[in-house]
Order: sequence, then C-alpha cells, then structure tokens
Amino acid sequence: MRALAGLAALLLVACAAAEAPAQPEAPATVEYPIEVVGPVNPPPPTTLTLRCAGAFTQGGIALCRTLPNAPVTLDGAHIGNADAEGWIVIGFTREHGAEAVVTVGAPGAASTAPNGRQRLSPGLVQTFDIAPREFDVQRINGLPQQTVTPDDPAVLARIQRESALKQAGFQSQANIEGFLDGFIRPVEGGTVTGRWGNQRILNGTPSTPHFGYDIAVPEGTPIHAPAAGVVTLAESDMHYEGGLVFIDHGQGLITMYLHMSRVDVHVGDTLEQGQVIGAVGSRGRATGPHLCWRMKLRNTQQLDPSVAIEGLAAARRELLGESAR
Ligand SMILES: [Zn+2]
Repeated sequence: MRALAGLAALLLVACAAAEAPAQPEAPATVEYPIEVVGPVNPPPPTTLTLRCAGAFTQGGIALCRTLPNAPVTLDGAHIGNADAEGWIVIGFTREHGAEAVVTVGAPGAASTAPNGRQRLSPGLVQTFDIAPREFDVQRINGLPQQTVTPDDPAVLARIQRESALKQAGFQSQANIEGFLDGFIRPVEGGTVTGRWGNQRILNGTPSTPHFGYDIAVPEGTPIHAPAAGVVTLAESDMHYEGGLVFIDHGQGLITMYLHMSRVDVHVGDTLEQGQVIGAVGSRGRATGPHLCWRMKLRNTQQLDPSVAIEGLAAARRELLGESAR
C-alpha cells in the first residue's frame, strides 16, 4: 500500500507539473523511470524475534520473519536458515499433530540434539496449534491400468527413470522470494474435481492419498505461474503425469502442474507471476482434461495449494502490515 500511495503521489506531482505554466528559464528536470517491483517490506528485525503467520492446519503453510540468516527448526528438525531479509517458509504435513514447535537461533547459534531433537542456543521457541482436517475417500475408475498397477518391465523402467528426474527437480532451493508475491490461481474458472488429501481408490485398488488439487477446465486452457519462480522440471511426456512442470518459488517451495497437453517453458527459466507455462490436458493418469496442482516444500512436505495460497496471503497482510492501514 505504501508503494501504491507513493506512486499515486508521484503521479499527482507529474499531473500538476504538466498543468503548470511553462517556465522556459527553469533548468530541465531529469525524469527517472518509476518501477514498483512488489510490496515495500518493512526492514527485517535487528534483534532475535520471531513472528509467524499463515494457515496453521494440516497441509497448510506459514511464513515467519526473524533475524536475517537465523537457523530455524520445526518439530525438532533443522529446516534451514532465514534468508537475507529474515523470511522463512514453514509447512505442515497431512499427518501433522496438534502442535508445531518452531525454534529460531541467533545466526551461528550452536545446534545441539539431545534425545534426537535439535535445540538452538541462544534461541526462541514458539508453539502453534495445528488444526486437524478430515479427508474423504474418493473412487476413480476408468484409468489406464498401467498407471495404477504397472507390471510391464518397460513401463517400470520408465517410471524409475522419471522418478530420478522428479527427485532432481525437487532438490532446488532457489534464493528468491516468489513466496511473497501473493499467489494467483494458475487457471481461471473451472470446477474442483479432486480435493487435496483424499484417500483414493483407483480402478478398485486402494492408493496413496491424493496430494493434488484438481481443477477441471477445457483442454488447452492456459496455465499461469501463480507467483514468480524458477522452472526446475519441464517434461512433455511423463508416464503418470503427462506434461509436467515444477516451479521453485524460493526456499524449495515448489508448485507442480500435471497432465499438461503443452509445456512452454524449460528448466532454468525465470518466471514472472502470471506468465503462461503451458496448457491443460489429460495425459498420464487422468480420465479427462484437468489441472492437478500440487505443492511441496523442501522435498519433504506435501502441502495443499488451495490452503497454502490463502495462508501466504494472510501472512503477507500480517507480516508486511498491509491490512487496515
Ligand atoms: Zn490430481
């Protein structure tokens, strides 16, 4: 808001100048281009503090701000360091218990692990209640059987090769702050046909939970990057996923786009929010055209994108002071 107010003030000045009578004797003024890149962040804290906001629920996400470069643990495991602006993203799995414990230490704090639980000293500890969720059972029939119970040796070898590609794509932890963008939906309109976390029975066979958020839209519908990021995987023909793209929005917060009919980006491409990455399709393990949208954090936590984008928006409002000002 401050950036917008500043821009408005500059525009008013520009308009007033245009309407003022010409003053030929005045020295020419130099005009500088005005570029508003994003929200104007308040500066990071200079003492060891910790503020977190977001969606504190199973499959949810939170954003924390603390001392730049401070080490952070979640539930006893070191998850990384805050970035140079003091931001760190944390996520909560589908199976997360009722409480999440976040600790933050001064940069360079000693990390000890009594009883296998890491502690940071000197440090701060905060505990958050994590809301439980209920997940439905969903039955889907009519899938290609080799995408449910593959047994063809050639298919099994292909699945193994593609699994290695995906693992490589998940390793990324880009030093960018796309997670601060305020995510937009990657496709317009559509019907939600599969919720995140559902227990699935595919062609009659019980399967792992569904870690996607399925939006049915016509074949060929453009898919937009929901926030700035870097492409870490771009494949046009995967066995399970068809056309598949991964985008790292910073710190290993990776969004995934499955079953695409067309892939327009390449590994290493830098994306702006809203940029088209390809088109919706029905390739791989799918019964019709839809976008299966997924989100994973640091290659360990599957998150619910529909909940996470709300959580990140709430976190921005709270931590960037954008609300009610
Ligand atoms: Zn899906």
